[in-house]
Amino acid sequence: MDEKTIKEYLNRCSKCGGCMAACPLFAETQMEPLVARGKLFLIKNYLDGNLDLSKKMMELMSLCLLCKACTDQCPNSIPVDQLVLSIRQEIAQHKGISFVKKNIFQHFLQNNGRLNIAAKMANLYQRSGLQWLVRKSGILGLLGRDLAKKEKLLPEMAKVPFRAQVPKLISVSNPQMRVAYYTGCVTNYVFPQTGHAVLEILRNHSLEVVIPEQWCCGIPALASGDEGSTVELAKKNIKAFQEAGVDYIITDCASCGSMLHEYADLIGSGDAHFFADKVVDLSQFLAEVVDFTPGDKEIGCVVTYHDPCHLNRGQGVREAPRKLLKSLPGVIFKEMKEADRCCGAAGSFNLTYYDLANKVGHRKVCNIKDTGANVVTTECPSCIMQIRHLIELEQIPVEVTHLAELISKSYGGVS
Ligand code: SF4
Ligand code: SF4
Repeated sequence: MDEKTIKEYLNRCSKCGGCMAACPLFAETQMEPLVARGKLFLIKNYLDGNLDLSKKMMELMSLCLLCKACTDQCPNSIPVDQLVLSIRQEIAQHKGISFVKKNIFQHFLQNNGRLNIAAKMANLYQRSGLQWLVRKSGILGLLGRDLAKKEKLLPEMAKVPFRAQVPKLISVSNPQMRVAYYTGCVTNYVFPQTGHAVLEILRNHSLEVVIPEQWCCGIPALASGDEGSTVELAKKNIKAFQEAGVDYIITDCASCGSMLHEYADLIGSGDAHFFADKVVDLSQFLAEVVDFTPGDKEIGCVVTYHDPCHLNRGQGVREAPRKLLKSLPGVIFKEMKEADRCCGAAGSFNLTYYDLANKVGHRKVCNIKDTGANVVTTECPSCIMQIRHLIELEQIPVEVTHLAELISKSYGGVS
């Protein structure tokens, strides 16, 4: 976003405070600089030359979930998350990004070979007994505040990444359509069972599926102000999926889906628009594109649904997952209060601001508990990790699962 556009948006803020009731961070901290109105005030003063990019300013700009809840409530429709992202880019340009992040975004996310090795090493750390030893020794507690707690957020890595477990083309007889599957990094490296569930659903709808070589969508880099890396990743993905020749590109991850849609504005080329137009979330695809037919196996559970910010406000998908859930055999659906409120995951926000993220998430856990459901489902692997972590901390007997995995149970489930 150029400076002129940013200033136009900033001038639209009437300081009405309508965003205060919506902001999950303001609810927990009551701090004006964390709510949209306060952030816009800071950004305006920076652009007017009254503030510099001090350590405090940089910290305040990193304190945003990018959940878009403020924009939803704003009478002037100010895209606060986009303005915060623009300032994060400015910070990255002037102050640089950390050595670790730079390496991850520029040398690992751009190179699947290196990423596979890193995932394998993380898996070895977890399975060799080293993780057990590290936890038992208490060494992380000595190394830094919250490090031991944060380490528990590290999900169990898959022994073999999902894309290495399946062929690049999954054929069916008499396909009604040819689609591509964008697996996202978390499904690939952490939750391969979600990937298998997605394939089972698509197979049951007679769809030929292509899974081309693909790269991270770029959202972690963009959220840290590294637009250059995001553009590189976007170009790689657009090229890879263009060659697949498909009708739709299906995603099971709300954050990836939202980012893939943004390639159109980010790159601006005809190819980028063509790519972005084909991207569709799994639930939307099932509810609106194909004639969704669940299996006939009784699932037998009371389920509630958490709306990921990047699916609900990011892509406008609200009714589709509920429609699917209500059609599943043996499923009783219970709507939770504030289903669309952020769970606190927000990419790596929960790692950087562990305690604050947990405070935000506590409200989600209470709302889940109030429904009496024994299953909570959603469509964002990052939300799944955060909600599972919170539920474990608060010892609530609720299963957290991806919608695809729940649907696949109606066909018998994947082994
Ligand atoms: S709701 Fe919109 S216009 Fe009102 S204070 Fe917040 S950002 Fe400004
Ligand atoms: S995007 Fe979310 S966390 Fe950030 S200011 Fe708006 S409501 Fe608050």
